[in-house]
Amino acid sequence: MARYTGADCKLCRREGGKLFLKGDRCYTDKCAYERRDYAPGDAGKKRPKESEYRIQLREKQKTKRIYGLLEKQFRGYYELANRQQGVTGDNLLRILETRLDNVVYRLGFAKSRDEARQQVRHGHIHVNGRRVDIPSFRVKDGDLIAVAPKARDMLVIKTALISHEKNEMPNWLEVDIDKLQGSVLSLPNRDQIDMDIREQLIVELYSK
Ligand code: SF4
Repeated sequence: MARYTGADCKLCRREGGKLFLKGDRCYTDKCAYERRDYAPGDAGKKRPKESEYRIQLREKQKTKRIYGLLEKQFRGYYELANRQQGVTGDNLLRILETRLDNVVYRLGFAKSRDEARQQVRHGHIHVNGRRVDIPSFRVKDGDLIAVAPKARDMLVIKTALISHEKNEMPNWLEVDIDKLQGSVLSLPNRDQIDMDIREQLIVELYSK
């Protein structure tokens, strides 16, 4: 699956806010957005003209970038969310949150979604006892996600867990740090997804 390979910090500057794409660095004064909180490029400091379309577009771009997705895949998730019963925006966020790479990140086994994606791709993650190396794999209610035995001593996972201690675990997940495993207690509803995303804007944009 294709993915964005440019500079992550430029994405935060483009979206006008911190997207927390680089793990610990995002919480230090090395954060590029803390130092230059304007868009990259020559016109970066100019205030763009606001329009309804632009606001919707930026919200969609921001969300896509937080979860590390390209347009085709993100659009596909919207179509899927739209076909499901219930509120499309809530469905969309639930789909995004239940991707395996996001769950690995939420459980604290990786410092960022990007790092989580690498761990999944390299076969370091098991779901219900079986290796799953597809970052877009979607977890279900009751699934058990564990660090593979061969990866349990990896420094990158240990340091991720240490820095994760300061973050709050979403209450639809449960983690057992000693066993390096976590479980899905239930699929998340909107109240359980603590993200500064106005999903209704994305739905409005795509449903034009
Ligand atoms: Fe964004 Fe993190 Fe880079 Fe700061 S350090 S600009 S929050 S990716």
